[in-house]
Amino acid sequence: MRNKNSFLFALIICQLILSAATLSCSKGEKWETYSASPKTGDGFTANLPQGFQQPTDDVGKRLLKEYGSVFVARGGAIAPTTVIFKDEQEVSAFQSSVQNSSERIGSFNLELQVAAIKALKEAAAEAKQSSLTITPRSADAAKRSYKETVELWASRVNPGLAHWTSKGKIQPSEANRIKSLSPFDQVPEIFKLESEGMYFSKDLSKSIIYSVAPPGTSQHLSMLALDVSENDDVKIREILAKHGWYQTVQSDLPHFTFLGVEENKLSSLGLKKVTDGGRTFWLPNF
Ligand SMILES: [Zn+2]
Repeated sequence: MRNKNSFLFALIICQLILSAATLSCSKGEKWETYSASPKTGDGFTANLPQGFQQPTDDVGKRLLKEYGSVFVARGGAIAPTTVIFKDEQEVSAFQSSVQNSSERIGSFNLELQVAAIKALKEAAAEAKQSSLTITPRSADAAKRSYKETVELWASRVNPGLAHWTSKGKIQPSEANRIKSLSPFDQVPEIFKLESEGMYFSKDLSKSIIYSVAPPGTSQHLSMLALDVSENDDVKIREILAKHGWYQTVQSDLPHFTFLGVEENKLSSLGLKKVTDGGRTFWLPNF
C-alpha cells in the first residue's frame, strides 16, 4: 500500500513537471514571449512597428502592398520602420541596430537576424529527419547590402532603358537623365514608364518589381528573408512554415520571409492567404 502511494505521488510530480515543461517549450509560447502578440481585429496597419512611417505616395503604397508582410513580423524579429531605405547609410544603421548571427548552411555563410536563423536551423534539422535539406540558393540568399540591391536594380533598368530607346519609345536624352538619378529617385520614373507600357522585368514583359526589388526595399536588407533552393518541394514549404518562415512575395518563388508566428495567427497580423500555383502566400490585407 505504501509503495503504491509513493508511486502515485511520483506519478503526479512527473505529470506536473511535464506540463510545466510543455508550457514553456511549445512553439507558440516561445514566440509570444519574444514580443507582443498580434493585435486582433485591427488589421495590417495596426500591427506595423511602432514609429512606422506610413507611405503617403503611390510608389510607397505599392511597395508596402507588394513586399510589406515583413513589417508585421513577430517572434523576436525586428522590422524596419520605413518601406524604402533611402541610401547605404540608412541600411547600415538598421542592420547594425538589430542582433544578427552568421551560420554556415549548405555551402554558404548566411547572415540573418538571430530569431530568424534560429528558426531556420530548427527547420533544417527537422528536414534532415526526413532526409531532406533546406539550402540557400546563392551567396546572397540571406542578408544583402544596399549596394547589392542597387546593382540588381541597375541590371534591369539599364538594359530596359537601352531596349526602349532602341525601339524609339524613349529619347536617348531622357534615358540618360533617368540613369543620372539616384537609385531612389529612379523608382518613380521607372514605374511611370511602366504605366505607359514600357516594362523593365528581365524579359521586358511585366513590371520590374516581379524581377527585382527597387533599391532599398528588399526584405533581404532586413535580414529576415532567405531564397531557398528546394522551394518547389511542398514538404520543405510545410517545414519552413512550421518554423515561422512563409512565402510573402507572390512573384518570387524561391523567396521566404521570417514572420515568426504560427500559421493560424497570420490573419490576425493583417495578412491574407493567397493560393497560387499550389503554393500559399501571405500578403498584406489592405
Ligand atoms: Zn529573396
